[in-house]
Amino acid sequence: MLGGMAQTERKVSINIAGQAGYDILVRPGLLADAGGWLKAHARSAKAIVVSDANVFPKHGAAVVQSLMSAGIEPIVAMLPAGEDHKSLADLLPVYDKILPARVERSTPVLALGGGVVGDMAGFVAATVLRGVPLVQIPTTLLAMVDASVGGKTGVNHAAGKNLIGAFHQPIGVLIDPLALATLPAAELRGGLAECIKHDIIRDADGFARLEANIHRALALDMVYLADLISHNVAIKARVVEADPLERGERAHLNFGHTFGHAIETVSRHSYSHGQCVALGMTAACFLAEKLKLLDESDRRRVVAVIARAGLPTGGLTLATRDVIDAMGFDKKVAAGKLRLILPHGIGHVVIRDDVAADLVAAAVESLRG
Ligand code: NAD
Repeated sequence: MLGGMAQTERKVSINIAGQAGYDILVRPGLLADAGGWLKAHARSAKAIVVSDANVFPKHGAAVVQSLMSAGIEPIVAMLPAGEDHKSLADLLPVYDKILPARVERSTPVLALGGGVVGDMAGFVAATVLRGVPLVQIPTTLLAMVDASVGGKTGVNHAAGKNLIGAFHQPIGVLIDPLALATLPAAELRGGLAECIKHDIIRDADGFARLEANIHRALALDMVYLADLISHNVAIKARVVEADPLERGERAHLNFGHTFGHAIETVSRHSYSHGQCVALGMTAACFLAEKLKLLDESDRRRVVAVIARAGLPTGGLTLATRDVIDAMGFDKKVAAGKLRLILPHGIGHVVIRDDVAADLVAAAVESLRG
């Protein structure tokens, strides 16, 4: 890991009013230094490592070794991998494992995995003994740039996604871009959908850099990935700081997600989340152009960068009516009105709840091409 150590470490700090701030560190090789970091930031002789069956065999040893080298006893609790197992029932064995190990209020939970592990381990940290410290160690691009920052934790219920949960901010987020080397390419592309989203809602210059460099992310260029991740973490951190409990502008992060979640539901998850967000952003940009919020040339730039990420911008075969109906059940519906996050040029968004239903239908219809 000496090669990784030589790389500069990037740090993004997040400060939420009335709460302890924390740092998000990005450096190739950081996984192997998790123990040293923890020793400096938490006072506990034990640490609970929560991971899943895909991630732990690839990256668990580095973290466990580093804990032991730092004199911290690891207690490992495994989750089954994947969104289908993001349930309370799947969490119970984790409590069964850690409670008899005499955890204390100071015993940290380390979430080593993608967004599913991060949300579930985060919920454990929020609830065990009414709250213990949480460290996020994300291993998917989506979890690095999105899920690990901001303190949302939870599990799904038969009634819907993420309906049981808590806000519980981590004490730190340790991001090692090298972990992406083992990530399936489709998952990497899904994370890029969120990176595209971040720049469209907040940063025109970032968008131009992404246009020029997105191939480097797909080629796993670690220097670029470290840049890309820290840039995106900073965007997410600023949005969370401004609105930690999602009462206002944090909703901007739902750009592409209102259409996207509907497509996800109607397709019964045959499209991945990232693919749905890609289609959702495409539809939202179609609408924004019709509403004269976005130039045609900017809409084309967005579509081109989504396509270059290897994500879909068309070819939808679902019935438009079904997608529209599903949008009505999206949690982003406020007081009976469909609220849409639409780009106003690249780098800004507006929230609109006055878009005519036939225009929304036309936007879904446009995804057939
Ligand atoms: P995921 O956690 O299911 O990971 C995707 C797959 O990749 C899994 O099979 C996982 O085991 C595997 N994997 C993870 N890292 C790997 C690695 N380095 N090498 C090989 N395989 C690896 O999915 P995700 O896309 O990371 O996260 C999606 C979840 O995140 C959803 O449940 C969503 O609700 C949640 N989320 C939460 C927030 C938040 O603010 N808390 C934000 C966005 C998304």
